[in-house]
Order: sequence, then C-alpha cells, then structure tokens
Amino acid sequence: MIHKQHIIKRFISYVTIDTESDPESDTTPSTEKQWNLANKLVEELKSIGMSDVTIDENAYVMATLPSNIDKEVPVIGFVSHFDTSPDFTGAHVKPQIIENYNGEDIVLNEKENTILSPSYFEDLLQYKGQTLITTDGTTLLGADDKAGICEIVSAMEYLLQHPEIKHGKIRICFTPDEEIGRGAHKFDVAKFGADWAYTMDGSQIGELEYENFNAAKAVVSIQGKIVHPGYAKGKMINSLYIATDFINSLPRLETPEHTEGREGFFHLTDINGEVDKTVLEYIIRDHDKEKFEARKEIFQKLAKELNDQLEKELIEVKITDQYSNMREKIEPVMHIVDIAEEAIKQAGITPIIKPIRGGTDGSQLSYMGLPCPNIFAGGHNFHGRYEYVPVESMQKAIEVIVNIAKLQAEKF
Ligand SMILES: [Zn+2]
Repeated sequence: MIHKQHIIKRFISYVTIDTESDPESDTTPSTEKQWNLANKLVEELKSIGMSDVTIDENAYVMATLPSNIDKEVPVIGFVSHFDTSPDFTGAHVKPQIIENYNGEDIVLNEKENTILSPSYFEDLLQYKGQTLITTDGTTLLGADDKAGICEIVSAMEYLLQHPEIKHGKIRICFTPDEEIGRGAHKFDVAKFGADWAYTMDGSQIGELEYENFNAAKAVVSIQGKIVHPGYAKGKMINSLYIATDFINSLPRLETPEHTEGREGFFHLTDINGEVDKTVLEYIIRDHDKEKFEARKEIFQKLAKELNDQLEKELIEVKITDQYSNMREKIEPVMHIVDIAEEAIKQAGITPIIKPIRGGTDGSQLSYMGLPCPNIFAGGHNFHGRYEYVPVESMQKAIEVIVNIAKLQAEKF
C-alpha cells in the first residue's frame, strides 16, 4: 500500500493552499484563490499519468483513468471538493503531525491553551497508536475535503503504477464551492460520463451514506397593525403575539435538539419582528418523503387556521424546496451501495451505514442523473479548529477506492 509519508506530503501540499469559499459571491468559483489548488491539481494529475485532464471555466477539474480490460464494464466516478468552509478561516494552515498518538490530550496551541482532548472528542481514542494530522488551533484543517482529493489522487497513482490490477474506466472530478451548497451546480454530468460515482466526503473510517434529508425552507410573514398604544383599543394588531401563537402551535419536541436518526424536524432559525410585522424563518427536514410533505402541509394549515380565527389574511407562508433525499435515486441501483460496502469490508473495516442528517453534493448529483453515495474520507470535527484526520484512515480510504476498481472489473 502507499507509504504514509507520501500521503502526508501530498495532503499537506493541499491544505496549505487557502481555498475558503464565500456564500456572498456570485462567481464560480466563489473565490479567486480556489483556482490555485484547482490548477495545481491539473498539473499533478498530468504528472501521475492521468488521461483527458481538463479544467473548465468554473474550475471543475476532471480526468480519466483508462480501462485496462477488454470487456465493457460500467464507468465509475470519484468526486471531492477543494473548497473549505467559510465557517472558520482556512488561511495559513499549519498542520501538526502526531505520530503514534498516545491517547492523551493534544495541545494544539500553547499560547491560546487550545486542547484537542479525548475527554471531549471520544472518537480520538479509536486512533491510539496512529498518526494524526491536526491544526495549530488557529485555523481549520481542510481535511474536508482535501483528504478526499488526496485519497482519489493517491488511488489513481497506485492503479497507474500497478497495471496488474484490473479495472474498467474510472472518471474523477474535483469541484469548487461545495461548502456553500453549489458544488454540484455547474457539474457537467454528461461530460463526466460515469454510470455512477462516489463522493469521498464522509467523516470517520467506515462511513457509507446513501440517504439524506428532504429539505425545505419556510418563511412565515405576519402582518400586524401599529396604532398609538394609548388609543389602540380594538384597533392595534400585534404581529408579535400572532407569531408566538404560530411558534407554539408547532410540536416543541420535533426540533433538532430533540431528534436523531430518521426523525424529522421543524427548526426555527430566525425571528425578526415588531408590532407592525414579524417574519419567522424555518427549515423543515425529513428523510421520509410523505412525512416531509405532511410537514409542509402543517405550515399551510396552521396559517389558514390562525387567519380564520383572526378573520383576516394576516399570515402568509412561503415554502421553497432546497434538496431531496438521494435514497429515491439510489434504491433502484442498490448494487452501487453493495459494491462500496463490499470494498470497505475487503479493507478490513466494518461499514457504518447511516442516514445523513443534512444534505450532500451527492444528493444533487443523484437528481442530475449521476447516482452518488458518499464514502468516508477519514476526518473528524469538520469546519473548525479541532479538525483532525488519522493518516491510517486515509490509507484505508485509498484501499477502498482501489477495491471498488477491482470489483468493477470482477462484477460485470
Ligand atoms: Zn465536505
């Protein structure tokens, strides 16, 4: 298998390039600096011997590993994103390497007393004896998703150096702006030309995901009537009280802080109000399509009922769908999950298959015609100073990609 030092060197060459994305920007990529890593990846893919290496005007990088077998088999893709989250700074990342981790507290930053501790992050303990890459406590690491890129490039390099391993045609793509929800937006699925793909963008070793939320956003606008409080009797309508009624009519336990697994929720994210007008912002989430539709219906029913009580049309609900559960697109082609599961088992790892309580680029891609489950990239504590990745997990992810390539030649 590929040597640890080689992986570390490659990974560090990516994370030390700042690629933070910006939700306020309208361009693609959303930040100029993402080109720096995109262009570097083009050169690197050419230098390891990949074919058809391209970069388009939106910085999507694609390349081909040609088939080395005679028969026709499905084309499989691997996808990762090179931007990092705007939640925390990705400038001047100074990775620290902890060899043979002893299971104790890791001082990320002495001056600021930033400690990565297994008493808070228990996951650390499963990596005792392994090599961890952490931050210096002042930035995020960018293992999300540069670990994924490192794994895909390393697996392609390995397959190119080992032509005795038989596989079909493999396509890879690195995208900008996943962290601001746009990684799939300008993805040219036809040009990519894969039958299906995997995002290498999950967290801990073993993860395999093919379900995510159905998601919608609801804006509830409540019109009041402002009148001088001294002369308001029978005239004033206080939108704040109506808003409170609306909020309290929704089940209090169906909220993010009271739900887990496949339980859906209503999440009040913002209140902006005064007597004259109040606006509530919610997000609605459910894995189950029918329950999801029922949740949206509740909003409309509730608005109607309160309007009827008030005998005025004061409440208006606007619901916008955001993304859908990819399960609907994956279930008809379940063998693509089975292959990934088998590849993970072959690497000696127990697959952890669970529904994502969020969305992924893979769900958008699945609805664009490229079914796309998500496989672990190995990192933990994404989007912040406590982010870390065990090098051994990256090694295993590389092995999983290589195993999928082998299965591609064997199964079809
Ligand atoms: Zn990611």
